[in-house]
Amino acid sequence: RRATLAKAIRLPSITRDGAAVTLQANIELDTDLPALRRLGPTGVGLYRTEFLYINRKTPPDEEEQLRAYRRALRALGGETLTIRTYDLGGDKLFDADQRDGPISPNPALGLRAVRLSLREPTLFAPQIRAILRASAHGPVRLMLPMLTDLSELDQCLNLIEEQRALLRRSGRPFDPTLGIGAMIEVPAAALTAESFARRLDFLSIGTNDLIQYTLAIDRTDETVNHLYDPLHPAVLQLIRLTLEGGARAGIPVAMCGEMAGDVRYTRLLLGMGLREFSVPVNRLAEIRHVIRHSDAYTLSAAADALIATAGRSARAELLDGINQDLA
Ligand code: PEP
Ligand code: MG
Repeated sequence: RRATLAKAIRLPSITRDGAAVTLQANIELDTDLPALRRLGPTGVGLYRTEFLYINRKTPPDEEEQLRAYRRALRALGGETLTIRTYDLGGDKLFDADQRDGPISPNPALGLRAVRLSLREPTLFAPQIRAILRASAHGPVRLMLPMLTDLSELDQCLNLIEEQRALLRRSGRPFDPTLGIGAMIEVPAAALTAESFARRLDFLSIGTNDLIQYTLAIDRTDETVNHLYDPLHPAVLQLIRLTLEGGARAGIPVAMCGEMAGDVRYTRLLLGMGLREFSVPVNRLAEIRHVIRHSDAYTLSAAADALIATAGRSARAELLDGINQDLA
């Protein structure tokens, strides 16, 4: 099995019945990059930038960030780098942030990710400029986390436009066609995905948070872990709505949450129409293997049946059926 997976590394991610699937990697630390290089040509669908901010007293400035993004681009050798603007606050606090202001009584529902970014433009603007400038050195996309309301997206788009104007004035190069996208990880955003999609170049479903917020289960609280269920019909419906919203707007929808990197769900997601997976580096080979041993189009009926099934154990059985011939 190991040998088969190793050999599969450079094979395209195409299903048995010919559906082309984009398989990308999630990067959390600089140290993930060498492993990615060994795994062959793979873009990055989620580059988490929090590591640049945590365990230090002052945030990284524009130049330091630009250097980090250029390092990642060099490691990717021409493949796309999707940089997510920082998702700080919530479960990912950083020192400078912890010091000023009261700790949110419920961090997951508090000043987190893009909410914090819009509240602290002096922290956000340098990151936007660094991402824009990185796009002069390779294919870069910018991705916004935790959007809930369209007005937040509009504020972000305005801010990006202002930073573009600033860079132009100072003669700093950037790619004017850089793609801008959003994570869909709040139920409100999934329910209104099409209106987000109409203003953006791509969406990416963050199932870790989407499940947390849909099922009202704190992802960091072990006492409710057993209720955390990616197969809950409400979660699956929200994934479906997001895929449909993106399709109606004519833009691609990826998934970068843990669910995308779990082989138990690969076939179900293919059956639901997902064609872009972004997964932890150490899952790439296995997910590619399952994609290559699945029939995406014939899986759609089984996916429909599973979404329509209310009982948890009945859904588990249907999933076993879908995965039956997987080694
Ligand atoms: C997610 O929420 O699914 C996601 C990919 O983002 P993070 O895990 O960094 O919150
Ligand atoms: Mg998230």
